[in-house]
Amino acid sequence: MAISDHVDFPAFIEGVKRRNPGQSEFVQAVQEVAEDIFDFIQDKEQYHHYQILRRIAEPDRVVSFRVCWEDDKGNIRVQRGWRVQNNNSIGPYKGGIRFHPSVTESVLKFLAFEQTFKNALTGLPMGGGKGGANFNPKGKSDHEVMRFCQSFMTELYRHVGADVDVPAGDIGVGGREIGYMFGQYKRITNQFTGVLTGKGLEYGGSLIRTEATGYGAVYFLMNMLKEKGQDLVGKAVVISGSGNVATHAAEKVVQLGGRVMTLSDSQGFIHDPDGIDQEKIDWVKTHKTRRRGRIAEYVETFTGATFHEGKTPWGVPCDVALPCATQNELLGEDARTLVANGCMAVAEGANMPTNLEGVHVFKDAKILFAPGKAANAGGVAVSGLEMSQNSGRISWKEAELQQLLLDIMEGIHSRCLEYGRRGDYVDYVKGANIAGFKKVADAMLAYGVV
Ligand code: NDP
Repeated sequence: MAISDHVDFPAFIEGVKRRNPGQSEFVQAVQEVAEDIFDFIQDKEQYHHYQILRRIAEPDRVVSFRVCWEDDKGNIRVQRGWRVQNNNSIGPYKGGIRFHPSVTESVLKFLAFEQTFKNALTGLPMGGGKGGANFNPKGKSDHEVMRFCQSFMTELYRHVGADVDVPAGDIGVGGREIGYMFGQYKRITNQFTGVLTGKGLEYGGSLIRTEATGYGAVYFLMNMLKEKGQDLVGKAVVISGSGNVATHAAEKVVQLGGRVMTLSDSQGFIHDPDGIDQEKIDWVKTHKTRRRGRIAEYVETFTGATFHEGKTPWGVPCDVALPCATQNELLGEDARTLVANGCMAVAEGANMPTNLEGVHVFKDAKILFAPGKAANAGGVAVSGLEMSQNSGRISWKEAELQQLLLDIMEGIHSRCLEYGRRGDYVDYVKGANIAGFKKVADAMLAYGVV
């Protein structure tokens, strides 16, 4: 008998905790997926025999390195960088780079683990990875950010490559940072290859990559609503965050007839009872990204709105909630408030914004709930399309890419239905976990023990 035949779910999780001390985010992510996978593989001997779940929960490798740089005052600064290469069974490692003071090995391992299933769900040939550094780009000059990015890439370049590992942006890493890192990679290797996605259009980037995660999350939401014979017209939508994902999700909600009530950042949220329309969204984009301002300043320009310091927006009554800021920003209590206020659908634009307790609240209430690995996969999907364009040295037209994004989000939704339908109710978390797992697991089985 295989060893794992004797391992039940609590024993498996105990093992994950023991092997990853102090890595609560990673343990949380594994626990959430393993809950569903355990049911699915119960009667499937091969997965047990080949220890697939145990192997998938162990990254292929974690690279950690020192990043030294000099600030504008001539001080030498030292940060820590990582690249977590979780699994490349179905394609080169693929996943973003995050620059934020909260970045730890645990956070990146959780993100790389989630990314593996997300990438599988897109149907494109991409493995899972994630990287980053505990560097805070806020308040730094362009030159400081440039020096940091160059130093980061001076180490990272050994571990990445167009057919090896293709990073992209994430929190704190946008077009500016990708440009600096791509420039340094090109300089060191003397190669112009598609080693990063999210590039500028002038040097190999793809149209609609910037919009893809937020738009894709709303397309996924539309697919869920359609299952219930509904759409977004007139629905009140509460959104957290005011970065790339949040602003583009807001834009698509407005285009499809919904009313956006809130946006937020790490200092609090704004509530605009008049609705946040396209003009206001454009203001937020310029204010937050180009001027690097705070969301609190919104109420000085749009005086009908209020700012709520240190709070999250989940207490504002709504039909739909889109958490688009960061992990663990929507807790059990928030989920109960949303359900009590009549919220009927939640789609995660961010990665793991809802904690485990919150997920159970949504599932128990049987409202529509799309986990990030399904709902926010549009970004990495268009990154995958950027890789294809780079390999073929071509650029596809916007209409073509928009259609591909719509098709991919519909495909992810169908895969979730295949494994998540329980009578009238669809458990999208279960559906996404099993569909993503099965594809990666079957590839691992094909390779034997490696
Ligand atoms: P941005 O850096 O553009 O925006 C992040 C937003 O979240 C900002 O409004 C930021 O506020 C807020 N935020 C960050 N940390 C916290 C915190 N601790 N509490 C409350 N708010 C916080 O990032 P993105 O929009 O790109 O990413 C948002 C989420 O979406 C992340 O979970 C990311 O992993 C996920 N994601 C992103 C993809 C992409 O294509 N960009 C793809 C798939 C997932 P402040 O300005 O105050 O820091």
